[in-house]
Amino acid sequence: MSEAKSGEASIYGALAGETFRAERDISSSNQGPKNLALMKINPNSDVPPPTDHGVVEPFWYSFDLTHRRVQEGGWTHQVTSRELPASTEMAGVNMRLTKGSFRELHWHLADEWAIMLTGRARVTVFTPDGAMFIDDVEAGDLWLFPAGAPHLIQALGDEGCEFLLVFNQGNFSEESTLLISDWLKHTPPEILEKNFRLGPDAIAKLPKGEPLYIFPSDEPEKSLEQEIAEAAKYAAKPKVSYTFKASTMVPTRQSDAGNVKIIDSRNFPASEKIASAIVTLKPGCIREMHWHPNGSEWQYWIKGKGRMTVFPGQEAARTVDFNANDVGFVSNMAGHYIENTGDEDLVFLEMFVASEFQDISLNQWIRALPEQAARAHTNLTSEEIQQIPTGVNPLLR
Ligand code: MN
Ligand code: MN
Repeated sequence: MSEAKSGEASIYGALAGETFRAERDISSSNQGPKNLALMKINPNSDVPPPTDHGVVEPFWYSFDLTHRRVQEGGWTHQVTSRELPASTEMAGVNMRLTKGSFRELHWHLADEWAIMLTGRARVTVFTPDGAMFIDDVEAGDLWLFPAGAPHLIQALGDEGCEFLLVFNQGNFSEESTLLISDWLKHTPPEILEKNFRLGPDAIAKLPKGEPLYIFPSDEPEKSLEQEIAEAAKYAAKPKVSYTFKASTMVPTRQSDAGNVKIIDSRNFPASEKIASAIVTLKPGCIREMHWHPNGSEWQYWIKGKGRMTVFPGQEAARTVDFNANDVGFVSNMAGHYIENTGDEDLVFLEMFVASEFQDISLNQWIRALPEQAARAHTNLTSEEIQQIPTGVNPLLR
């Protein structure tokens, strides 16, 4: 019986007064009040595997628990260090824009990494060297807007778009970005006249009231090529690309258990400070036991379901279930694996505040050890040790 099934059985079993074995094989009978909806999606919290133990800081949250700021043209919600206190260096924002709608021109303190989840958008970013970068992205593609570089996102196509933003600032807030309409509104009109060399009638037209933030508009009138050509009249040519077409990238690693696309400063030079892996894992398969020597891991679960056990050391370990639109977090150096417990492909992101993706595989390490040392630590025979997978395949069937 799979863990998911045993967890489900535990809900109804608990109602029927049955008991189940949990941590250290002690009864987990549960007679009092319970939140059955939460128990059903968290079978590994309800009846922890007997190997779980001790206190591990919370490492699960869901965008579907957050306040959604809805306005004409789209919506947004966020999971930051306010929702997930362990994540001090990374935060995420999920945003939707309807056809033609804009996320207002703005900038902020953090770098912004993004993946398009559905639909298409046109993005522009203006860089400190005076270059204007414009491109169109579709589902599966990425962008990176450096801290301080002002940028714009506009939905293309009838369906509009939805995307996930990841920031290298734990307490980032979408409510506290620097907006062009906000600044103009808070500048004396006579200064605006001097700055723009415009008369009072023109300055009177500038937006007042609430900042625009997200607002409806028409789709771009011009093609991407035309807009790039026009920008070139007034701005320098960008030295690097601020988008990355991950949707058409050949996976970095591929096996019968799934594939991994690793995108960091080595293949996406604009992403100097944020490294990522997009993992697709087949049902029943695992992302092998590993850890990361260069930072904490912030996860976004795009599709499917799974479970993860996090081992931060000192005899502590906790197993938690995840579904689409959830956020996971693995503190620096903590050991972990991910298992696809569903019956469809699981897709999730591993995000790091780092220039390069790095991980250490338990299997590779054991197989590289002097064999006597491996035997002494595991009680396994030579034959058994030689069955442990070697090589660089992070996904196992
Ligand atoms: Mn932004
Ligand atoms: Mn990992």
